[in-house]
Amino acid sequence: MTVLLPDDSPRDECGIFGIWGHEKAQVLTHFGLYALQHRGQESAGIAARVSPERLALRRDMGLVSEVFSAEDIRDLESDAALGHVRYSTTGGSSVENAQPLVVRMKSTSIALAHNGNLVNARELRRALESSGSIFQTSADTEVVAHLAARESDKGIRESLLAALGQVQGAYALVALTPDGLFAARDPNGFRPLCIGRVAGGWIVASETCALDAAGAVFVRDVGPGELLSIDDDGMTSSRIGEPRGNPSLCVFEYIYFARPDSDIAGQNVHQVRKQLGRYLARDHHVEADVVTGVPDSSISAATGYAEEAGIPYEMGLVRNRYIGRTFIQPGDELRQRGVKLKLNPLRKVVQDRRVVLVDDSVVRGTTSKILVRLLREAGAREIHLRISSPPYRYPCYYGIDTSSRGQLIASERNVEEIRSMVGADTLAFLGVERVTQAAGGDPDDYCVACFQGDYRVPIDPMGDKSSLEES
Ligand code: AMP
Repeated sequence: MTVLLPDDSPRDECGIFGIWGHEKAQVLTHFGLYALQHRGQESAGIAARVSPERLALRRDMGLVSEVFSAEDIRDLESDAALGHVRYSTTGGSSVENAQPLVVRMKSTSIALAHNGNLVNARELRRALESSGSIFQTSADTEVVAHLAARESDKGIRESLLAALGQVQGAYALVALTPDGLFAARDPNGFRPLCIGRVAGGWIVASETCALDAAGAVFVRDVGPGELLSIDDDGMTSSRIGEPRGNPSLCVFEYIYFARPDSDIAGQNVHQVRKQLGRYLARDHHVEADVVTGVPDSSISAATGYAEEAGIPYEMGLVRNRYIGRTFIQPGDELRQRGVKLKLNPLRKVVQDRRVVLVDDSVVRGTTSKILVRLLREAGAREIHLRISSPPYRYPCYYGIDTSSRGQLIASERNVEEIRSMVGADTLAFLGVERVTQAAGGDPDDYCVACFQGDYRVPIDPMGDKSSLEES
């Protein structure tokens, strides 16, 4: 993570966790959410089956450590639970939009938590509203809840299948009723979701690092277009519509989002990042004295670069882990100081040296610009910026909020123009083919729309990015 200041940085997305059949379900969910905190720092919530008929909910704005007291966790004592961490976008930053969402559907309660972005949510919402649905939040999850409610006579699994058959875009979804846990992934499989087992119980989570935190053993990923129903009789798999050609796993999960200790589609994130760094060194070598990475997300790529280039890796920037996302200071001078609080150059490492600075991505260019300046102030002789991904040119409509097109530094600029704006001596990006190569398998199995603009699920042509709700 190299987010500098919240109002300057692109937004994160969401993390989801569900568990069925474990006597300490709420405790393992709490652990799981800690492990998924990097996927969303604005709100957190847990819904738990506290009796055979009742779901209790605790959710609030803030980090997992701020939202749940020891007493909350005791009060949520349960054998099945669902958890969510969220970073919302414009207009969505309020406790009503915190998840899980718990609603009544006929005679049962259902809790839902979602990661992704539905491209036809606005259209569906309008249609639902004109036929009488009343919405309490602006989150996509509520659209799914209303769609499912209309089919509730069919039972939960069928109603979820019917609802998911109508939504388009990116989602990983978990739902909990007193009778079962459900987990679904959109037919393109944009967002990751995996299954694990723990002491006879089942877990589903955005990333395998949450399985590790809960002491669970990885079973497999939820497949694109698969809906899993889990209850005391075990797990059954159903299909959401027909398979749609190649899957489109988001490559940015490997580049930046996911934690390095997670495995996605059988590939370890750290190893993929390290390979990206190796390719970067091979494709964009430069004579230098030291390689350093921007903590934490770029360290893997930076070590790969150093190994391949035969240049020593050193810690050139130190990150303060105790600065929350709400740390905002207006004004340039204070802002600059705020950055130094968060990331401080190690003068002894960079002074009078030619430094290769590896970062995983350049989105608006704010981070690079500030870091180059800080390293120069700390005495670096040359700064060679190496980015372990291609130029980020197109907004993501599938669950990652990286601003509108105009805010993306690479949308209308070539590499030389970007270099001059951020002030580095040299700048190089990795090619798209290198990214899919490092991730492995068929290059067509990944979504690279942010680099190439080839959106696999058509986006809302009327869509104003800033008003789309993501989670
Ligand atoms: P920027 O400063 O806008 O160029 O953002 C790029 C920096 O933010 C890089 O150092 C990334 O590690 C990090 N980053 C990239 N994408 C995201 C995102 N969606 N949310 C938060 N940080 C991000």
